[in-house]
Amino acid sequence: MSIHADTYQELILELAPKTVQLVAVSKTKPNEDILALHALGQRDFGENYVQELVDKQASLPGDIKWHFIGHLQSNKVKYIAPFVHLVQGVDSLKLLKEIDKQANRNNRIIDCLLQVHIAQEDTKFGLDAVELEEIVLQRSAFSSVRICGLMGMASFSDDLEKVRGEFQYLKTLFNEINAKSAFGIDSPILSMGMSGDYKLAIELGSNLVRIGSLLFGERNYPAV
Ligand SMILES: *Cc1c(COP(=O)(O)O)cnc(C)c1O
Repeated sequence: MSIHADTYQELILELAPKTVQLVAVSKTKPNEDILALHALGQRDFGENYVQELVDKQASLPGDIKWHFIGHLQSNKVKYIAPFVHLVQGVDSLKLLKEIDKQANRNNRIIDCLLQVHIAQEDTKFGLDAVELEEIVLQRSAFSSVRICGLMGMASFSDDLEKVRGEFQYLKTLFNEINAKSAFGIDSPILSMGMSGDYKLAIELGSNLVRIGSLLFGERNYPAV
């Protein structure tokens, strides 16, 4: 077993009192690693390659909640629409439209987070504040998706002050939208924080962290 079981248990103890949800990011990792974590009680897993997610979903336990966590191409939505639990990373109106269409075809409501571009460096996908507001204003046109919150990725940087500022910015946008009761659920989700910055993210208001390498070890091929 190549997962870090002790780290997992510590993380669960750390997150539980703060009611922060853990999504175990299993991209590039084999099914046996996912099963090992599943045996310890983990049910929420995150992937960001469509084909890999489809293959894993077909062969792993049906009680797993699959999160799609990165940039999703519109033409691939149809492959995950039948089962995806939460699409973390809606970064365009076009994509939201397509998710709505495919959700409707599958007779379901698909939960989504809007991804905001918060990193000053790195070219990461995401909406700017204006695009975010546009989508929020148009949300009622999409009856088969539910916008449950926001997601963001900070700069991959040792500069903690910079990362802090980026998380704070996302939290501010989240609060503004929440104040207008524009999220579709009672307890909206703010997804921020990965292996290297999750503690800071939680301090700044995250209630969902996406953690890969801390649990599964370093990935052997690059993430996206
Ligand atoms: C890979 C990935 C993660 C997890 O990254 P780690 O640093 O391994 O914890 C989180 N979020 C997204 C969107 C990712 O692509």
